[in-house]
Order: sequence, then C-alpha cells, then structure tokens
Amino acid sequence: MSATTVTPSTYPLPAHRTQPDSKGFFGRFGGSFVPPELQKQMDEINAAYQSISRSHDFIRELRSIRTHFQGRPTPVYYCKNLSDKLGGARIYLKREDLNHTGAHKLNHCMGEALLAKFLGKKKLIAETGAGQHGVALATAGAYFGIPVEIHMGEVDIAKEHPNVVRMKILGAKVVSVSRGLRTLKEAVDSAFESYLQDPVNSIYCIGSVVGPHPFPLMVREFQRVVGIEAREQFLEMTGELPDNVVACVGGGSNSMGIFAGFLDDPVELFGVEPLGRGPGAGDNAASLSYGSEGVMHGFNSIMLKGEGENPGPVYSVASGLDYPSVGPEHAYLNSIGRTQVATCGDEEAIYAFFQLSRLEGIIPALESAHAVAFATKLARQRPTQNILVNLSGRGDKDLDFVMEKYGHYADKEY
Ligand SMILES: *Cc1c(COP(=O)(O)O)cnc(C)c1O
Repeated sequence: MSATTVTPSTYPLPAHRTQPDSKGFFGRFGGSFVPPELQKQMDEINAAYQSISRSHDFIRELRSIRTHFQGRPTPVYYCKNLSDKLGGARIYLKREDLNHTGAHKLNHCMGEALLAKFLGKKKLIAETGAGQHGVALATAGAYFGIPVEIHMGEVDIAKEHPNVVRMKILGAKVVSVSRGLRTLKEAVDSAFESYLQDPVNSIYCIGSVVGPHPFPLMVREFQRVVGIEAREQFLEMTGELPDNVVACVGGGSNSMGIFAGFLDDPVELFGVEPLGRGPGAGDNAASLSYGSEGVMHGFNSIMLKGEGENPGPVYSVASGLDYPSVGPEHAYLNSIGRTQVATCGDEEAIYAFFQLSRLEGIIPALESAHAVAFATKLARQRPTQNILVNLSGRGDKDLDFVMEKYGHYADKEY
C-alpha cells in the first residue's frame, strides 16, 4: 500500500452523501430521461451545481439571503391548545408559513436563482400551475435583477388571478399557453420549448424535487435547511428528537426538505398524500398510494397513469398537491420502508384548516392542512409521542375559495 492510499472509512456515510448516484438514481428511481439536446444542458447544470454550490462564496451568499431576505430561521412552535385537545401527544409546527412570501418554495427558488447568477444566466424560465412556484421565482428574479418568464395555461390564469397579478407586480413576464387543455402539462411543454431556444443564456427552474437529474438533488439540498433548522430547534426546545415527522407531499419538496434533516435518526417519517374525493381514478393525487412505476417529465418514479403510460387525471382541493407523480427520492425511501405514506381527503384537510385557525391562530395553506389533519389522527393513536409537522405555507391564498365552498365549516365547534 503506497503512503498516499487512504482506506475508506467503514463508518456509514449520511444518506444525503450516498443518494442519488452519479446518474441521479435513488435506487431504480430518478435518472434523466430527456432528448439529447436537453441532456447536454442537464449535464452542464449538474457539473456547475456540484462545484459552485459547495464553494465558499455561494454558501456565504445563500446564508446571508436566508437570514436577511427570507427571515430564516423560521420558528418551531408548540401547539399547546391543539395538543391539549387531542389528549397527550405533543404537536409542533415548523413554521415555513413565516418564510418570506409565505411558503417553503422560496427556499429552492433563491438557491436556483443564485446558481443562475453564478452561471451568468440572463433569464429564469419556469412553468406554474396554481401560480405558487411562479410567484416564488418572480420574487427571486426581482431580488437578483434577472428577468423571469413564467408559462401558465390559460385556464389556470383565469382561475388563479391573484397570483398572476403578484407575478406581474414583481416584474415577471407571464406567458399564456392556449394549446391543448390549457393547464399545467401544456405550460411545461411551452416552458421547455422556450428554454431550448436559448439554453446558454437561460435556465429552467423546476418547482419541486422532480424532473431530470440534477433537479431532485438540487431542490432537496436547497430545502434541506428546513430539516437542519427543525432538528436543532426541536432538540433545543425538548432535549430530544421528535418521534414522528409529518409533511404533505405534492411533488415532494417541503417533505424532502424536512425529512432530509432526520433521515439518519431513529425518527418515523410520514408523507401525506391528497386523497381528494376518494380512491377512485381521477379523484385524488395520491401517487405513491395508488400509482405504478413509470417515466414522466424526464424521470422514473411512481405515477398515476391514465390511458396507456400517460399521466392520469388528478384532483385535490389543494392545487399545490395535484401532481400525478412524485419526487424519485420519495419513491425510493418508501420502497425501502424508510418513510411511510399516509393519505388525507379534502374534507379532513378543510376540518384541520379551521381547527388550526381556531385553536392556534394560524391559518395554514390547504396543502399544509393535509399534514396537520394526519398529525391529529396520529396524535390520538400515539398519546405519549411528539409529532413535528412541516407547516409548508400560510392560507391567505385559500381564504376566498374556502369560504365560498366550505363556509359552513366556520359555524362548527373545534
Ligand atoms: C407547492 C406547495 C406544496 C406542494 O409542493 P411540494 O413540492 O410537495 O412541497 C405544499 N405546500 C405549499 C404551501 C405549497 O405552496
């Protein structure tokens, strides 16, 4: 053995250091299934990300942004009233609703836009469904002075008027997509076409832990701050780790973010999928619960299929959760039994939305209400345990919709 040979440590590396592999696979999930011209761009983004994101300058600037612009760290809050009501178990919230712009999405948008700045990109391109990702990216674009182009289906533009207005006020260009069903899928196609017209000067910013490698890895790493902070804060508050961590799963970014802080700990991790109106095809968006393996949007995962191998129709009362697939790391962690999947229907989520508002003075996003609803169920089953919930966003965006459709819940006792 030469003097320079270093024996590999037998101490197990933390999960985030070993997953994904160099091709972006978490087990058999993930990877990159895109046309050659797009693959070339993904390889470049990956190479740039791997070097830049670990540079001192990048880390220093991102940390400063998190502190001074986003208002991080967000607090962990003990829900005394809710916990007392449920009898025994203690429920805590990681308050991503208090992150600037009111949700966790800004965590990865600021990271992606900072990478774009280091790469000298002149334009940020993305699609948006309900508009939440569009607003977060428009915010990042305004901060860095990089123009933003958001592709959005005509149907969604009509439905999500306040978010369209916010994007415009923030200076983003909203491209209305009028082909096909005029919703998210067509917006993705349109945004990719625009990106491929000038991939040297622009960058595509994906809105969750989905898409081809390296996006599931990058977005997880930008969201990991949630889990790192929460773990430290929880230890500081209670002197121990939580028994359970609960988060809602759409594409899977807020859940991967908080899970990432606890993957190597003896903590049970629950991803809550939207059961919508029920288990029937087209009535929910619970991909891991009812889906099967397939490739969509450039990656292999578990997805809800419609005709043939195409993505199926999905539905949830929370528009941020109605995605027919799920981040590949979730598919992997679930397949090896590290995480557990739960579901929550529309009505349970609405009940939790009002219950948290009434008992704690916190109006959650409808997406986050799914996680709260499951946590209350778990609390009844595990009265001696601690439960940490990622409260991914605030409910201001949902107020009109909830009162119009579920106004009678305001008359109930909680
Ligand atoms: C978009 C959104 C989600 C779902 O996205 P993930 O990638 O699964 O986190 C959840 N909560 C809020 C508040 C959102 O805006």
